[in-house]
Amino acid sequence: MATAPNVYDAEPIPAAARAEIDRLLQSGDLFRYTAPENAPVALLEREFADMMGSKYALAVSSCSAAIFLSLEALDLPHGANVLIPAFTFAAVPSAVVHANCQPVLVEVADNYRIDIADFEAKLPTAQAVIISHMRGHTSDMDAIMALCDAAGIPVIEDAAHSLGTTWHGRKIGTIAKIGCFSFQSYKLVNAGEGGILITDDADLVARAVIMSGAYEHNWAKHKAPDGQNDPELAQAFARWQNQLPLYNMRMQNLSAAVIRPQLPEVARRVRDGRANHDYVAEQLNTSPWLAVPPALAPEDRAPDSIQFNLVGFAHDDDARAFAAAAETHGVKVQVFGLSKDNARAYWNWHFIPGEMPELPQTRAMLMRACDVRLPARLGRDDLDYIASALIAAADEIRGETRAYGT
Ligand SMILES: *Cc1c(COP(=O)(O)O)cnc(C)c1O
Repeated sequence: MATAPNVYDAEPIPAAARAEIDRLLQSGDLFRYTAPENAPVALLEREFADMMGSKYALAVSSCSAAIFLSLEALDLPHGANVLIPAFTFAAVPSAVVHANCQPVLVEVADNYRIDIADFEAKLPTAQAVIISHMRGHTSDMDAIMALCDAAGIPVIEDAAHSLGTTWHGRKIGTIAKIGCFSFQSYKLVNAGEGGILITDDADLVARAVIMSGAYEHNWAKHKAPDGQNDPELAQAFARWQNQLPLYNMRMQNLSAAVIRPQLPEVARRVRDGRANHDYVAEQLNTSPWLAVPPALAPEDRAPDSIQFNLVGFAHDDDARAFAAAAETHGVKVQVFGLSKDNARAYWNWHFIPGEMPELPQTRAMLMRACDVRLPARLGRDDLDYIASALIAAADEIRGETRAYGT
């Protein structure tokens, strides 16, 4: 009998990282601002900006730090309302609270994307918007950008888990004013921890660079994408010198050494991840009890996991029994709203000031939406195993329920 695939192990880090890490350990040159130029972190920023077609990139300690610095760079008033989707990771409302702003949760539909009617209704109260492309699912960016541009409200894309996704062929993270990405181990590029923000706005990046910890004149080591001096950027740095707090959220050179050789792997990981996802989705959609929502038409996904809804599961206990049955088949399923203290269930975000809103649409989705890891390195046998186990688990539970006549 085939054995259940291990979906937790990451891919090995490309061997090219070893020589660079050895060199850094030999020299002890780990701080990004020690070398006069071309430190690994600076090279990563240039390569990442180049890959994304953005003017500027700033590498930091996490995507959460990138989101926090983006909000700080926007210079929002204390207590400003920031719209975020109610389906995201707890780090997102946390970054908003950290920036002394108030998260305002927007309803998310059962296709895991922002409910545009609720978004439009709440937008007049907002001074900024964060769009989390949660689990790589892209909300309707045409509608969102049209509404925000008309209202003059800045948008930050939380593309932590969306590296490689495109919308009308445009790279996710480059559509709004600022895009933020994660290099935490469960994302497409793995450095253990790390994040990066991209923007074309010299003033925003200058503010973010200084606040990330470019004290004194360390900002002078941030150059234009071609490595040259950039007068617009230099003027922005001069404007903000000594005007901003230093939060010290820098990336160190070892992280950059781990990330840089993975950038050429991104296209392959995206291609394999998408093929794996679509292969499993097609099988799951043959079950009357499981539904994988389709991507929106302009979206080309870059998934490393699969989400699907349980259909016709009237009771929470049936949904729990499905997860338990899948586990006995060797496949771990997380039903977002049913595992205790889940960090993606908005009702667990008690740190948000004020009263917790009731969001019936998002709640209903979270109670039936399942999450299964599907890393790009899996082969067809692994994928068949996972799809069969999930379909069998659903049949067992629904079959039983029908047998009992409920
Ligand atoms: C992982 C993730 C984050 C947080 O990223 P860190 O680098 O761990 O701070 C934020 N938003 C989304 C959608 C994520 O998936």
